[in-house]
Amino acid sequence: MKCDVLIVGAGPAGSGAAKAAAENGAKTICIDKKLVIGLPVECGEAVGLGLPKEFGIKIAPEAICMKHKGTVFWANQEVKIDNCSPIWKSMSVNRHIMDKSFAIDAARSGAKVLVNSELIDSEIEDKIIKSVTVSHKGYEISIIPKIVIAADGINSKIAEMLGRRKFKDIEIGKVAGYEMTNLNLREKNKIQMFFEEMCGMGYGYIIPKSRDSANVGFGSLGIKKAPWDAFNDFLEEHPIVAPQVKHASIIEVKSGEAPISGPLSDSYLGNAMFVGDAAGQNLSHVGEGAVPSHICGRIAGKIAADVVKSKNIQNISIYPKMINDALGPLFNHCDSIRENIIKIWTSKLPVEKRFLIGTVLVSELIPPNNKELLDRFERIDVSDVVNETSLLIRKENIEANITSNQF
Ligand SMILES: Cc1cc2nc3c(=O)[nH]c(=O)nc-3n(C[C@H](O)[C@H](O)[C@H](O)COP(=O)(O)OP(=O)(O)OC[C@H]3O[C@@H](n4cnc5c(N)ncnc54)[C@H](O)[C@@H]3O)c2cc1C
Repeated sequence: MKCDVLIVGAGPAGSGAAKAAAENGAKTICIDKKLVIGLPVECGEAVGLGLPKEFGIKIAPEAICMKHKGTVFWANQEVKIDNCSPIWKSMSVNRHIMDKSFAIDAARSGAKVLVNSELIDSEIEDKIIKSVTVSHKGYEISIIPKIVIAADGINSKIAEMLGRRKFKDIEIGKVAGYEMTNLNLREKNKIQMFFEEMCGMGYGYIIPKSRDSANVGFGSLGIKKAPWDAFNDFLEEHPIVAPQVKHASIIEVKSGEAPISGPLSDSYLGNAMFVGDAAGQNLSHVGEGAVPSHICGRIAGKIAADVVKSKNIQNISIYPKMINDALGPLFNHCDSIRENIIKIWTSKLPVEKRFLIGTVLVSELIPPNNKELLDRFERIDVSDVVNETSLLIRKENIEANITSNQF
């Protein structure tokens, strides 16, 4: 088979790329090794409302479970930030339905989508992928592409074949999670996020999908305990979580790995472009990547089609700039929050203060570049951090509040 653009992976990134490449006139093939696009689900299934609106990404109504009025952040099981400002409004989706609808959209735009098709080998000369071998229903198919879009996730096979650097351990959030039902949800229409010592530099979450079901998960980073052991402690011992899950049943396992590196600088190599998780293109302070990946995929697909038309592979070099123009400020903002959180979490400050300041930062009540305020928070008492944040919320008119069950 010959094609202009071969996309490996039909997740949100790959389907976005396939749609845009085909719409812009490229003969496009998009392969995925899965039997069913989107399954198994490896996601908490929360999608912020802002990006789909800003970039005109239509989420299929049948994929949407419910909308969330805001997000509740817990620091050290003591301080509660209830943030209902627009950036923390979201929806929960059924990811496999959303991913499948993205793939259907790509196919309707003219891309050939092929499941049960795993890229297993390639012929590469001077970093140019000349051909790939795909295993499909026990047969081996050879595909000769002009451009390859690697939308094959965090453990990208194409990155490995081309010798691009792997994600370091510290850049990978290992997430253990379940969809649970018969929950006694404390917040019926808000996401709950938990920041404290047991999560290390990660966080625990409860993302409602209905009045009594939710994705409950635990993204750990920098702790010694194995993710599933830490997750079990979170479910059984956490004073806010345990009562909510006490009578619940597990109806699906939803675990996996999420990059938290921020976008990688080497986003293209030879005739290949990396998109989505394969390129670290997500909101790196929380790991939200489904819609950002899809947006980046659309950008990559359009560029790939243009490069084919121009017959000049050098034009691929515009890719990082186009991503930066579209999402650079947002990605940089998230990276800056993440970097500050890591700095505070790894500092010698007392535990309560580390997680409290980290939570105030991640909930975006203070800008990550307000060094003066951050320095002050490091010096004053925990109760004063709460009081000053409360004053700031009122002054800035943020639709949020902060309370403590300690003072
Ligand atoms: C547990 C967990 C919870 C998360 N929660 C959220 C959340 O709540 N909200 C959110 O927005 N994001 C969340 N994320 C992140 C989000 O799931 C990813 O950012 C998103 O899926 C990235 O899309 P992608 O298309 O780049 O990669 P993927 O969705 O990983 O898709 C890659 C595709 O490539 C295919 N593939 C891989 N190798 C090959 C090969 N050799 N040949 C053929 N096909 C191949 C795979 O089968 C897969 O379908 C979470 C991640 C995890 C792990």
